[in-house]
Amino acid sequence: MPLTGIEIFKLLPKTNCKECGDPTCLAFAMKLAAGKAELTLCKYISEEAKSKLQEAAAPPILPVTIGAGNRVLKVGGETVMFRHEKRFENPPGLAILITDTMPDAEVTARLDKFNNLKYIRVGLTLRPDMVALKSESGDPAKFEALAGKVKQGTDGPIMLISSNPDVLAAGLKACADRNPLLYPVTKENADRMIELAKTSKCPVAVKGASLDELVELTNKLTAAGIKNIVLDSGARTLRRAFEDQVFIRRSALQKKFRPLGFPTIVFPGEMTTDPMKVAVIAATFVAKYGGIIVLSDFYGESLFPLLVERLNIYTDPQRPLATTEGIYEINNPTDGSPVLLTSNFSLTYFIVSGEMENSRVPSWLVVKDTEGLSVMTAWAAGKFVADAIAPFVRKCGIADKVKHHRLTIPGYAAAEAGGLEEELPNWKIEVGPREGSLIPAYLKAWKP
Ligand code: SF4
Repeated sequence: MPLTGIEIFKLLPKTNCKECGDPTCLAFAMKLAAGKAELTLCKYISEEAKSKLQEAAAPPILPVTIGAGNRVLKVGGETVMFRHEKRFENPPGLAILITDTMPDAEVTARLDKFNNLKYIRVGLTLRPDMVALKSESGDPAKFEALAGKVKQGTDGPIMLISSNPDVLAAGLKACADRNPLLYPVTKENADRMIELAKTSKCPVAVKGASLDELVELTNKLTAAGIKNIVLDSGARTLRRAFEDQVFIRRSALQKKFRPLGFPTIVFPGEMTTDPMKVAVIAATFVAKYGGIIVLSDFYGESLFPLLVERLNIYTDPQRPLATTEGIYEINNPTDGSPVLLTSNFSLTYFIVSGEMENSRVPSWLVVKDTEGLSVMTAWAAGKFVADAIAPFVRKCGIADKVKHHRLTIPGYAAAEAGGLEEELPNWKIEVGPREGSLIPAYLKAWKP
C-alpha cells in the first residue's frame, strides 16, 4: 500500500534543514506522497527508512527489462486500469517463435522477418520486439546452437523456453550476456530455476496451472530475492486468458496484491493454429493487458495492424503527437515554389508532407505549432486563426525564402483568409484543398 504523507514524515529526519528545497520535512513528505518529489533530494534519510520508502513507492506492477545494449524490452510498470485515467506506460512486446526442430532455412527466414518487418508511421519506427526460442527436441546442444545462431542474427531481446533447466542453462551459455527471459518456472522445476535465475541474474517467467499456483510461485521467487518476474496464468483459451489478465491487473492495482504485481505473458500462438485468429487474439491482449505476446509467426498483413493498435493505445492521451514548428523543404524547393501552411499535429503533418512528396512538385511546408491539434480542432480552439498565424508567418523566415509571397492555407481554415490578408498585407492568401489526397492535383495546377 502507498504510504500517506504523515507516514512518510515519520520516516524522515525531521530536522527541517531545507536542503531538499522544501521549508520543512513535512512539506517534503507531502510532495513525496503526491509523487512530486524524488527521495534522493534528502541526503539524510537512513538506509532502513529509504528501503521502506522505496518499497512503498514501487509501482504496483513492477517493471521488468529483458535484453541488453541498444535494444531492450521494458514491460510492466503500469499504474492504471484504463488508459484515459493517466496513460499506459510500456507497450507489450511482440515476439516471434523459433524452435530447435525447425530447419535452418526456416530459422533464417523467421530471423529475417524479425529484423526486416518494420514500418514508419507518424515519424516513429514500428517493429516487433523479441525472439522466443523454444526447445522442442529437449537436446541441450541443439538449443545452445540455436541460441548462438539467433544471437548472431539479431540484436533484439531473446526469450528461452524449456521446462528442463538443463536445456535452459545450455541456451544461456550462448546468450547470457543478452539478459534473456527464462521460461517457464513451474511447481516442478522451481528450485532449480531459482538457482539459474540467481546465478544468471536473468528475468524469469512463471507459469502456474492456476492463479493460486501462480501466487505460490511468485511468493517463492520473491522470498528468494528474485523480483524480475513475468506471469503466465497458464490459460490457453481466449476467454480464460482474458479473464486472468483482467484479474491480475485488478489485483495488482486495486487490491495492491504484490504476488500478482508483475507484467504478464500470453501465447496466442498456442490458442489456435489459424494465423488470422492468432492476430485477433493478440489484438485483444494488446488492449488488455498483455506484457509480452508470443505469436506463432509474423505476417506483414497482421503484424502491421497490431503495431499500429499498440501505438494508438500506448500514446499518452494527454500529449498529442506533435511535429516541430518550422519550415520543411519538400522535393528541393526554390524561391518560386508554392508555400503551404498546416498545423503540427503529427498525423496532419505526415499526411500533408506525404501528399506533397507524392506530387513531386518542389514546395515549402510551413508548420505552425498548434500544441499538437489538427487544423480543424486548432481552428475551433483559436490556435489556428489569423491572429495566431500571422505573427508566426512574419517571424518564421519563409518571406526570405520565396519571392512570390503567396501562402496557401488549408481548406478547413478558409474562414481565416480575409483576416490573414489584413494581418499580412505583403502576402496573398490562397485557399488549398480540405483533404490531403487533393494536394497533389492542387500543387500541379499551382502556377508561379
Ligand atoms: S533535506 Fe531531508 S531533513 Fe532536510 S528538510 Fe528536507 S526532508 Fe527534512
